[in-house]
Amino acid sequence: MVVHPQDDWVDIPPLDEFCVDKTENRKNGRRNRLLRVDRENPRFSEVERLFIKGWRHGKKDKPEVHFIFKVLWTEALLESYLAYRASVQRTVKAKDKRGNERLLFHGTNRACLLGETGNNVLLCSLRDCSLCSILRTSFDVTKCGSKNAFKRFGHGIYTTSCSSKADDYTTNISKEATLRVALVSRVVVGIPYKRYRNATDLVSPPNGYHSIAGEIGWDLNYEETVTYHNDTIRPAYLVVYGNRQEAPVTLKTFVRSMFKTPLAS
Ligand SMILES: [Zn+2]
Repeated sequence: MVVHPQDDWVDIPPLDEFCVDKTENRKNGRRNRLLRVDRENPRFSEVERLFIKGWRHGKKDKPEVHFIFKVLWTEALLESYLAYRASVQRTVKAKDKRGNERLLFHGTNRACLLGETGNNVLLCSLRDCSLCSILRTSFDVTKCGSKNAFKRFGHGIYTTSCSSKADDYTTNISKEATLRVALVSRVVVGIPYKRYRNATDLVSPPNGYHSIAGEIGWDLNYEETVTYHNDTIRPAYLVVYGNRQEAPVTLKTFVRSMFKTPLAS
């Protein structure tokens, strides 16, 4: 009897949902880093719901969500995140199969007009555009918090489920911006260590924990999550929100509307 050896086969894992190489993540065959999510897509309502639910500052008007973009990554940039997530998953004995991964908000500086219209999807290279820098290579713990000298839980990457708190850290540098943006990231929270009091000298969570959960109570009014190395997080969505104000009427637009003729800029 001849025994046929089994074919060698390699189990190729499916591409991550946020991989730029996934066919469904291309638009007209193009591989952009941002992909606009249609309102009809269930992901839109899911992320919008998170954003609206997370708007907890009673004194701030609830904004409208104008656009949501999916943030796409090359396999190389996702690999280390997915490997870290898998390693946490092995130690977290939770029902969650992704190392207690959560979608959390982060606000930062935007110098360009990324996301301002549904078609503004190209990252800029302006030096003070922290948004595009994070979108290009993800968070860099060495650069985090450089804007704020006070770091409640030490030198880490700060995210929150409270979108209105993330909004406190969102800054439009361009005067032409009329909307605001918040990053929604996948964060491997793992086993969080709960802290009620500030601990500004932290550089990592205690042994056996994967993140710090700043709890509401003594020193904090809105919760926050802090992780301490780059592979704990990858941006997943960009939410563009706000209440568009009437654009100021400039002389040029006034003249254009009077004579209905395009002016050379
Ligand atoms: Zn930019």
